[in-house]
Amino acid sequence: MPTSETLFARAGKRIPGGVNSPVRAFKGMGRAPLFISRARGPYLFDVEGQRYIDYVGSWGPMITGHADPDVLSAVRDRLEDGLSFGTPTAVETDMAELICEIMPSIDMVRMTNSGTEATMSAVRLARGYTGRDKIVKFEGNYHGHVDSLLVKAGSGALTHGEPSSPGVPASLAEHTITLSHNDSDGVRRCFEEMGDEIACIIVEPVAGNMNCIPPEPGFLDTLREVCDQSGAVLIFDEVMTGFRVALGGAQAFYDVTPDLTCLGKIVGAGMPVGAFGGKRDIMAHLSPLGPVYQAGTLAGNPLAMAAGIALLRKIRQPDFHTRLAERVATLCDGLEQRAAAAGVPLITQRAGGMFGVFFTEQSSVSDFETVTQCNVERFRRFFTAMLDHGVYMAPSPFEAGFMSSAHSDEEIAATLEAAEQVFAELE
Ligand code: PMP
Repeated sequence: MPTSETLFARAGKRIPGGVNSPVRAFKGMGRAPLFISRARGPYLFDVEGQRYIDYVGSWGPMITGHADPDVLSAVRDRLEDGLSFGTPTAVETDMAELICEIMPSIDMVRMTNSGTEATMSAVRLARGYTGRDKIVKFEGNYHGHVDSLLVKAGSGALTHGEPSSPGVPASLAEHTITLSHNDSDGVRRCFEEMGDEIACIIVEPVAGNMNCIPPEPGFLDTLREVCDQSGAVLIFDEVMTGFRVALGGAQAFYDVTPDLTCLGKIVGAGMPVGAFGGKRDIMAHLSPLGPVYQAGTLAGNPLAMAAGIALLRKIRQPDFHTRLAERVATLCDGLEQRAAAAGVPLITQRAGGMFGVFFTEQSSVSDFETVTQCNVERFRRFFTAMLDHGVYMAPSPFEAGFMSSAHSDEEIAATLEAAEQVFAELE
C-alpha cells in the first residue's frame, strides 16, 4: 500500500517539489506532507487510513466542513447537463446577485478561476480606471502570485524565505510601494508625498498570510480616507476573509467600505473560483463595457457556480458566524490556558472564523516584523507533535487557521487534549 512518503517521492520526480502549490510541501517541517485520500466534516483521511481533525479546510473554503452534502448534491444536480459551455448561463447571474446582496459595496461582479486572477484583474482595473501606475501593498500581505504583488509577500513566499521572486522584472516591481502593515502614519506620509500617482491600495483587511493579524483600530479607516482624498481605488482582498470573518466579510465586520473587493475560496466551496467586484462606475471600465481587458475560458463555470451558491445560501443562516466565532474562541482560549499552565509562551489572535497561534512572549503581533520574531522552531515541533496526535494545523507559522461549523465540541475538546499533551513536552 502506498504511503504519504512513497507517494511524495514519486510525485517529486514529475511535479516540482512534489506539489502543485508550494506551502503543501511541509518545507522546513521536517517530514513529508500527508497525502489525503478523502475528507468529511472536520476530518481529513490520509492514504494510510489515518484520521486528522483539520484546521486548514482546503485553506479556507470548507467553512461548513468537508464534503458538505448540500454542496455535493448541488454539483451532482448540474453534472449531467455538461461541464462547461463557454456561453452565458443563468447560474452566473444567480451567483452575481447573491454576492451583491451579501456585500452591499459590490454593484457588479466578474467571476474568475482563482484568487490570483481576481487580485490581478482588480489591480489592472484600478490602474485603467485612474490612469496611474503606482500601487500600494503591505509587507507580509499575500495576494496570489501576481507579478506586481509578489513584492514582500506573505504565505508560501514568506515561508520559503523568498519575500519576492526571481522572474518579476524590477521595472514592474518598482511601481509597487510596500508599506508596513497596520502603520497608519506610514500610509499618510506616503500619500502626502505621491498620493496623486497612486492607482490603488490593496490590503488583506485581516492579514491571513503572515499568520492572523487583525487591523489595529483606525487602520482600515485611514486607508479609506487617503483613497478618498487622492482618488486612489481602495481594494480589499477578501479572498480569505470574505464570508468567513463575517457573512459580509471584513468590510462588514469592521464597517469600512472598499471600492473593489476580491473574493475566492468560500465563494467556490472548494471549486477553482475567484471573483472581483465593486462600484458600478469602476466595473463599467471592464471589457466588453469598457477598455480594460479581462477574460476567462472557464470563468463562471456552471458546476463551480452551483457549488458556491449552495454554500453561500447555507452560511446565510442567522447566527452561523456568531457560532463559528464562539468555536474559535473555545479553541483559542483553551490553547492559551493550556500553554500558560505548561509554561509555554503562546498567544492567539482571531477574527470571526479565522485564528492564529503565535509562540511568542509579545502580547500582540501586528505586523511582518513582529510575526517574524515568533519562535519558528517551537512552532515546527508543535505542528509535528499535533499531527502525531491526529490534529492537522496549517504547516507553517505564517498561515492562519480556519474553523468550520462541522467542528463540534467533541473535536475541539480532542484538539485541546492533544495540545495539553504536546505542550507538556514542548521544548
Ligand atoms: N489573496 C489572498 C488573501 C489569499 O489568501 C490567496 C490564497 N491563499 C490569494 C489571494 C490567491 O488565491 P489563489 O490561491 O486562489 O490564486
